[in-house]
Parts: sequence; structure tokens; C-alpha cells
Amino acid sequence: MSISHESSAADALRAKAAALSFTSQAFIEGDYRDAASGETFECVSPIDGKVLTKVAACDKEDVDRAVKAARKAFSSGSWSDMAPAGRKKILLKFADLIAKNAEELALLETLDMGKPISFSKSVDMPAVANTVRWYAEAVDKVYDEIAPTAKTSLDLITREPMGVIAAVVPWNFPLLMATWKIAPALAAGNSVILKPAEQSPLTALRVAALAAEAGLPENTLQVLPGMGETAGQALGRHMDVDMIAFTGSTEVGKFFLRYSGESNMKAISLECGGKTPNIVFDDAESLDGAAQAAAQGVFFNSGQVCIAATRLLVQEKIHDEFLEKVKQVGEHMQPGDPLDPKTFMGSMVDKTQTERVMSYIGVGEKEGAGLAMGGKQVMQNTGGYYIEPTIFDGVDNKMRVAQEEIFGPVLSTLTFKDEAEALRIANDSIYGLQATLWTKDINKAFRIARGLRSGTVTVNDINGGGTAVPFGGYKQSGIGRDNSLHALEKYSQVKTTHILIS
Ligand code: NAP
Ligand code: MG
Repeated sequence: MSISHESSAADALRAKAAALSFTSQAFIEGDYRDAASGETFECVSPIDGKVLTKVAACDKEDVDRAVKAARKAFSSGSWSDMAPAGRKKILLKFADLIAKNAEELALLETLDMGKPISFSKSVDMPAVANTVRWYAEAVDKVYDEIAPTAKTSLDLITREPMGVIAAVVPWNFPLLMATWKIAPALAAGNSVILKPAEQSPLTALRVAALAAEAGLPENTLQVLPGMGETAGQALGRHMDVDMIAFTGSTEVGKFFLRYSGESNMKAISLECGGKTPNIVFDDAESLDGAAQAAAQGVFFNSGQVCIAATRLLVQEKIHDEFLEKVKQVGEHMQPGDPLDPKTFMGSMVDKTQTERVMSYIGVGEKEGAGLAMGGKQVMQNTGGYYIEPTIFDGVDNKMRVAQEEIFGPVLSTLTFKDEAEALRIANDSIYGLQATLWTKDINKAFRIARGLRSGTVTVNDINGGGTAVPFGGYKQSGIGRDNSLHALEKYSQVKTTHILIS
């Protein structure tokens, strides 16, 4: 009874997905348009390997046009000089329209990058709408400052928008990562150009129309799909882009620093890779709860998460018992049809990423890590790209599977003796995005949290906070913070106005 009910829910979603139409043109100079060159690229669904549509492949010429239009919009003051209460009203409308169209957007996201529909519906789209709403509601509540100078002067410290901001984003949470940039950047009064990842352009293209419908002035938000090496690089090197807000790999993040240095010294904010240590002490409150979180933390979104808890550090005494528990949870997270609401783990984003992850599994075995679970590509009969939840045991932190970001459902298990060793292993990484620890001892929790070189530390929980807390990395995990009022600050210039009082 319940099985036929559930499968009919999946069938209904498949029918809705089949009836979707796709936005495939760039949103530039106030309308949907082809790339100037007329070139397109194939947008493939990793669910079954089929081409969904052909999308405009924007290039330098399109970037030049978009930047010119964005600069004109910015200088006109139609958005940048609008009273905060006015920007708030339009952004709240934008959030409402996202919420209203959430089912369509969730289906697009699932088709485009293979994440389970249950998550694109219950995690991604609500978070997208909430992020826009959060910044809309913030803009008319933040005050500027007056400096504590002598009575002979008045020194005002005010925030002004940066100007033209380009957001270049990845494919793992396509619309959410885009929104983490565009919501605060727009709220602060900037004109924004968004380049989605080539693997997942559909939701970004669709919301451009929703922003216009909400009343965002023309050319305040433009969306240019295209390749990183062409469109992304042209934005990075443009002499009239004031800032790049990037989320993606550490390697490409470094390219943007170089582009900036070789062009106009534009501001660069970077959210890059991670290799989250998940430290489980033998005095953790509930090993069952910690095991559930450990599996979820690495297999959620098929491990394609910058904060995926990919390094499991277990205190020696509880290693066997704990790993067994993690395996038991992980066994129930086998990949399935992303359009089935029961599926916890969907497909990988594409063939390239699948091959990359499979090659890392080979590397781990060669390095001498023990394959404790999974390790195979599965469901090949679908034409799509799926990998089993995979666990390595007996990993040494020097191994590549412990040092490099795999970005797939692959867990590396290590052991430690005491606090000092846990901290040393956790910090022995080029990354510092997030770290997690499990203990009942509050003093130990604070000692370890203080010692971790990481933008976020979570204690007895695998997930950090939401929009209200800053998110970003130490070390090569990035520069700057997304979310919270810190992001609003990041998209603003700080101006000092000194007035002599005679
Ligand atoms: P990626 O290869 O670095 O790509 C990110 C974006 O940069 C894409 O839009 C990409 O365009 C563009 N790009 C690629 N090469 C470029 C170049 N030479 N010049 C200019 N732009 C270029 O990353 P990804 O594979 O999409 O995403 C996975 C990575 O994102 C992981 O490392 C993950 O940790 C990181 N990530 C970080 C966070 C965070 O908040 N810290 C969040 C999510 C993901 P194309 O699509 O054409 O390649
Ligand atoms: Mg795709």
C-alpha cells in the first residue's frame, strides 16, 4: 500500500519534470537573449545523461555588454540611491516570487544537477527565499557610525555600494550559492552580474525573470551562463567590475586573485574548498547520534558539499564500535532516482565529477587505505552518474584521500589517542572551512574549538547555523564571509567624511 503510494508520488514528479520548459538564453540588457556569438552549450541531466536544452554560451563580448549596462544602471541611481525601505520592498517581493515558484525551481535544480527532489524542495528553495528575505529585512535596520573624534570635527563613517559586482558560483547548491552572493550584494545597492556553473545554469536563468517581475530596476541583475575560462575569466579581468564574489574550488579562487592583480585590483571574496574534520571523542553523549550525523555529514548531496565531513577522526578506544555504527547508517543511503521523494542520495553532478571521484577511490586503495564500504559506480543502466556511499578506514592524514578535496560520497576514517593529537590532525590541512567535534565535556569542547583553525566549529551538531551566522574559511578555504551582516559589510565600501566645525 505505502509502496504504491510512494512510487506514485515519484511518478507524479516525473510527469511534472517532463512537462517543464527551460530558460536557455542569457538575461542581459533587460531581456533574455542569445550569446552575441550565437554559441550554445549542452545542459545535461546527470539523472539519465540526457540533454535537457542548449544554453547560451556567453563570452567576452557579452560580458562587456553586461558590464556596460550594469555600470549605467548603477550610475543612474535607480537602485543604488533608492531608499533602503524601497529596496526592502522589492527584495521581499522577489523572495515571495521565489517561494511561489519553489516547486518548479526545485524540479529544475534536481533535473540539472541530480540532487534529490526532497532536498531541493525542503532545503535549497526555502533557504534561497529566506536568504533574500533576511537581507531585505536587514537593509533598513543597519545604521552607520560617527567616529569618536574631538568636538572640532564631525567624522561620519558611511557605507556605500561597491558598484558592479560579478558573482561566479559552483554547481553543488546552484541557486543557493548564487543567492548567498546576490541577496546581500543587491541589498547593499550594487548592480550584479551572475555567472552560474556550466553544469547547472537553469535555476539562475529562471530567477532573473522573477527579480525583474519583483521590480528590480533594469540591468541591476543580469545572468550570463557560459564557461569559466571564457565568461568567468572575462568578468575576473574586466577593468570596470568592482568586485568578484566567488564560490568554487581553491584552484579557481587563486585564478581570480591573479585576474584582479593583472587588471584593476578589484575586490575578491572567495569561498573555496574544505576538508572538514569530524572529531568524535569517547565521551560523546550519544554515539548513535554522532554516527547518524557522521554519515549524513559526508553523504548528503552525494558528498558534493564544501563543508562535507570527509575526515572522520575517532578516538582509538571507540573506533571499532563507532565505525560499525556509521557503516550501518551509510548502508541505508544508497543512491536512487533523484525524482523519487524517498531518495536520500541522488546522482553526481556529471560524468567528469564521477570519474574524478572514482579515481580518488582508486588512489585511496593504492595508498593503502582499507575500503570498509562501497567504492563502486552504480545504476549505470540509467545512463546517469551514481556512486555508492564509500568509507575508507585506516587512513593516514598524509594520504591524498585525507588531504585533497574529493567532492564525492567518500569518507576517510582516522584515529587519534588524545586531545592534542586530534587537534594536530584536524589542523594539518590546507583548508579551514568547518570542523566538528563531539564530547560531553564543555571545557574540552571550548579548548578544541579555540584551537581549531576553521571559520566554523560545530559542537555536538554536524550543521552550523543559518543565514544569521557568518560562513567562510581560514587558510586556503577562502577570504571573507558569506551570510549574516558581515556579508552586507563585504559588499559595501566604507567612506569617511571629515567635517571641520569652526
Ligand atoms: P570550480 O571549478 O572552481 O568552478 C566554480 C565557478 O568558477 C564556475 O562557475 C566555473 O565555471 C568558474 N570557473 C572555472 N574555471 C574558471 C576560470 N579559469 N576562470 C574563471 N572562472 C572559472 O568549482 P566547481 O567544481 O563548480 O565546484 C566545486 C568546488 O566549489 C569545490 O572545491 C567546493 O569546495 C567549492 N565550494 C565552496 C563553497 C564554500 O562556500 N566554501 C560552497 C560550495 C562549493 P564552469 O562552470 O564553466 O567551470
Ligand atoms: Mg546540468
